[in-house]
Parts: sequence; C-alpha cells; structure tokens
Amino acid sequence: MTATPHTLHATDALLPTGWARDVLLQWDAQGRLTGVTSGAPCPPDTPRAQGPLLPGMPNLHSHAFQRAFAGLTEYRGAAQDSFWSWRTLMYRFAGAITPQQLEAVAFGLYVEMLEAGYTSVCEFHYLHHDTDGRPYADDATLSQALLRAAARAGLGLTLLPVLYQTSGFGGLPPSEGQRRFIRSTDNMLALLERLAPACRAQGARLGLAPHSLRAVPPESLREAVAGLHAIDAGAPVHLHIAEQTAEVQACLAWSGQRPVQWLLDHAPVDARWCLVHATHMTPDEYQRAAGTGAVAGLCPTTEANLGDGIFDTQVWRGAGGRWGVGSDSHATVNAAEELLMLEYGQRLMTRQRNLLARVDQPSVATAMTLEAVAGGAQASARPIAGLAVGQQADWVVLDANDPLLQGLPTAEAMLSAHVFASHRRSAVAEVWVAGQPHVRAGRHVLHHEALSGLATARRQLLTDNP
Ligand SMILES: [Zn+2]
Repeated sequence: MTATPHTLHATDALLPTGWARDVLLQWDAQGRLTGVTSGAPCPPDTPRAQGPLLPGMPNLHSHAFQRAFAGLTEYRGAAQDSFWSWRTLMYRFAGAITPQQLEAVAFGLYVEMLEAGYTSVCEFHYLHHDTDGRPYADDATLSQALLRAAARAGLGLTLLPVLYQTSGFGGLPPSEGQRRFIRSTDNMLALLERLAPACRAQGARLGLAPHSLRAVPPESLREAVAGLHAIDAGAPVHLHIAEQTAEVQACLAWSGQRPVQWLLDHAPVDARWCLVHATHMTPDEYQRAAGTGAVAGLCPTTEANLGDGIFDTQVWRGAGGRWGVGSDSHATVNAAEELLMLEYGQRLMTRQRNLLARVDQPSVATAMTLEAVAGGAQASARPIAGLAVGQQADWVVLDANDPLLQGLPTAEAMLSAHVFASHRRSAVAEVWVAGQPHVRAGRHVLHHEALSGLATARRQLLTDNP
C-alpha cells in the first residue's frame, strides 16, 4: 500500500522561476516536496491556500539571547553613541543568562520568527559556558537548549557554534565580558562531534562560526575550518566581517590589509561561506568576495539599529554576488521588514527606486524574495531553496482578505503590499515547515506559551541583574 501524498492547491504561488497559476503542491511523509505542478486544476477534496503562497524565508543570522534586550538600548548614554556602547549592554545579558532563560527566550523568538514569515534560522551561537566562565558539566548544555527551542517551535535550524578566542587582532587576551565564549580549537571540534547526532536527529544542520578576524587568530581559523570540513565536507562556515569601520582600521593596523582582503588571501572562502555584514568593502573587495560564491549575510534592520553603514547591493549583485537576510540582534523580527529596509537603504543612498528589481523580474519585492530565499538556503546548507521538487515543504501563505491586500489585482501586487505597505502589521496567514502548518490565522499554535515564557525570562534577567 502506498501512502497518499499530502497536497495543497494554490491559485498563485511564487516558484523559483517566478509567479505561477494553479499550483498543486505534493509532499511526502518526511516533509519533502514530491510534486510542484503549475496549471493544475484543484483535485476534489484538496485543501486550497487562502492567498498567495511564498517560499519560506531562511533567517541566516541570529543571536537568540539578544531578543531579551530589544528596546533597552534606544537611548543616548554618551555624547556619541555607537555599536560599542550597545555591546556593553549586550555583554551584561550575555554574562547573566541561564540555560533555562536562554531556552525560553529562544523558544519565544523562534515562534515570533515563524509568525513573521521565517521558516528556518542560522543560529550564530557564542554562549557556551556557565556564568562564571567554567564549562557546564555537560559541555553542550546551551547548544542543546537552542536545539530544543527550535524543535518545539517547529523552526528549521542550522546551528553554528562560535569559535571565540581573542578580544582583538594580534591575539589580545579575551576580556572578562567574553568569559562564556572562549574555547580552544580542539575543544570546539569536540563539541561539533558531540552535537552532530542530535542535529541529524531533528533535521538540523551543523556548521561553525569563527566569530570574526578580531576574535579568531589565523592559525585557529585555518585549523577549525579544516577540522569542520573533515567532519562534514559541506558544512557551512559563517563569520562576522567588516561590520564596523573601527574593525577595518584595527585590521589594517594589524596586518596592513582590510578584513575582507585579508580573509580572501588567507582562507579557503567558497560557496560554503557566509560573510555576515561585509558592510565596509572596497570595489575590489566586492568583486573578489562575490566571485568566491560566498553568501553576503545582510541584516538591514540591525545594521540600521547599530549605525553600521549600508552594504552596496548594486555593486555586489552586479558582480554576481549572492545574499540573504538575517534578523541578527532582533531589534525587530520580520522577514518583510528586512527586505523593505534593504531596498530603502539603497534608495536613500542612490536617490533611485526599485534598485533590487531585475530585468527578468521587475517587481522588486518578488525579485528580493527569490534572491533572499536562494541565498539563505545556501548559507543554511539545508534543502530549503523554495517551492521545487526535492526541497523541504516550507512556505508562507498571505491572507488575501487582509485589508492591505484586498482588491489588489495580482499576487505580485499583494507581495509588494506585504513588503512595502504592511510594516508593523502582517499579512501572513499561515506558515508551514516540512509540510506541517505551525502558524494559522497569523498565530503560532504555541503563541501564548512561547511569548509569556520570553517575557518571564526577560523580567527575571532584569530583576536579577540591575
Ligand atoms: Zn551577529
């Protein structure tokens, strides 16, 4: 006896090739798409999507615990405030959060992500040890808290344990605020071996995040990446790079080279890599970095929130560069808002409009969604590259009856309204991951439990650490 395939019919669906009409989706018991047929009538008894169907968006950069202090850094503490003053508060939370609080914050955040149209996350995870800096009896305690949070929320996961060894270029010793982050290279590789079975068991991918060139000396970078790829040749490597001009200056002082220049000359950067931020590059660095096939991990709302600067998508895409989006510090959590902020940054910089559209895809929201899904899937190293056979059955259904979408003539216009006109509210109706609906009528089934758990953890953190 063969199992009946799971099916859903959508009048409009955004396939990797563009919008298609009358699409019949079929998937298997493992949640993989087995059929994506356009021009297909809706068979009897087949459920219909209530609005345009989009591929699920991968969130390619997250530090889950940082959601706990969103809203707390929006005041001026010094005459000139910057990234580095934000980092001071971040270290206070990083130094204090317990495994239970981390799990509660991550669970709440991951539910928020699903409701906001993300179907998977790359978790750049650098809290490893107990609050006093000593390893937990079980060295994987905090990684496991994140694995459980993602499994409970139903969010896809690429777990990226962070290698962090120094407080600055040239091997400066770590600071007190960094005590929970520090691991030797061998110790990190042992953690990866330890986590691999648990990740496999829940369909998560395991990679590595050398934090940045300022936190990982050259020898460690080389050994850790080689060690990772000996364990899993296709595993993703993510690192923060050239986010801040001060970091560029420090790298120049240390090596005579800018961070991206140095990285490309000294590390085997290829399509397995994700260069997070890469905000400050020269035209030559844009060309060379794009040519490696690496993904640029753009975090437009966090980069705006922290005053980082603006990545030049025109130069990057002109060089064939791939990109995706992440919510990083989670100042806001909304896939559509990241796309809006990215396009608006380019408009403000160039005094033009619809910069991220393409000749073959003139609708900017459609073009951005397709490119961000493809780049996000590559950076996640998981089969989540959109609505195609063999990919995971992850999608978002927009509510065609939302007041902001009602009466618009096409699905393409509805997606444009979702990205550009539904700021601070959402036209997301349903979100499915691996063929399972987790969000219905805009709400995750565990919404109240997850969000009240996040609020309780935040209250405890603030009360216990004034
Ligand atoms: Zn980050």
